[in-house]
Amino acid sequence: MRKKFIAGNWKMNTRSIDGELLAADVVKGLGSGSNVTVAVCPPFPFLARIAQVVKGTSVALGAQNCYPKDDGAFTGEVSPAMLVDVGCAYVIIGHSERRQFFHDTNDFVNAKVHAALKAGLQVILCIGETLDDRKSNRTEAVLDAQLTGSLAKITSVELAKMVIAYEPVWAIGTGVNATPQQAQDAHAFVRRRVAQLCGDAAAHALVIQYGGSVKPDNAATLLNQPDVDGALVGGASLKADDFLAIVRAGVR
Ligand code: PEP
Repeated sequence: MRKKFIAGNWKMNTRSIDGELLAADVVKGLGSGSNVTVAVCPPFPFLARIAQVVKGTSVALGAQNCYPKDDGAFTGEVSPAMLVDVGCAYVIIGHSERRQFFHDTNDFVNAKVHAALKAGLQVILCIGETLDDRKSNRTEAVLDAQLTGSLAKITSVELAKMVIAYEPVWAIGTGVNATPQQAQDAHAFVRRRVAQLCGDAAAHALVIQYGGSVKPDNAATLLNQPDVDGALVGGASLKADDFLAIVRAGVR
């Protein structure tokens, strides 16, 4: 059985002191752990400090992006090796806000995925359709293109170090979540497609998170779907109580 995985994407929010307090509250609320994997993904400047807060606890640390080179003349960028160096276990790649505002293409996302895995990070790869895509019945075609492009030359062994987050763009930060059935249908499609790309066993073991306005009051029904293995949480991850309530909804 796949272990549920709840990750908090803090996006460009918090200052160092409230980030540390938030992480400390999550650590405290989680206690010695549960049968759910939990990670927080703060902004880059706070990673090193929050690494100290979560060190030795059952909360893992993730970053929100990386650049696909180890070092060099790439002003303003952060390499996967740097993320490992400050204590990250995970990195979010291909978030729709990166695709939309920073023009991350599937090829660039794929390069980042390879670089992150090579550095030893686990990847949370985000995919998802826009409202226009859904309205014009292109959801599966868009997910297919994102999977095929982002997972190019990824082996089944590498896929074991990956999580896929299905995040319909129309549900992110809008308060409108996908219905449990919409989420289940998309997740089942993703798993079928990944099976074609990387094999049945790898697809069966793959954790697929749902992301898009997950809140304490809708988490349980989403997480109860057979192919929904966790959640990538934006807004609700900024309040420890809400985030912990979502984690508890994933406890079996
Ligand atoms: C996200 O940023 O990945 C996200 C799902 O945000 P929200 O939960 O706020 O919709």
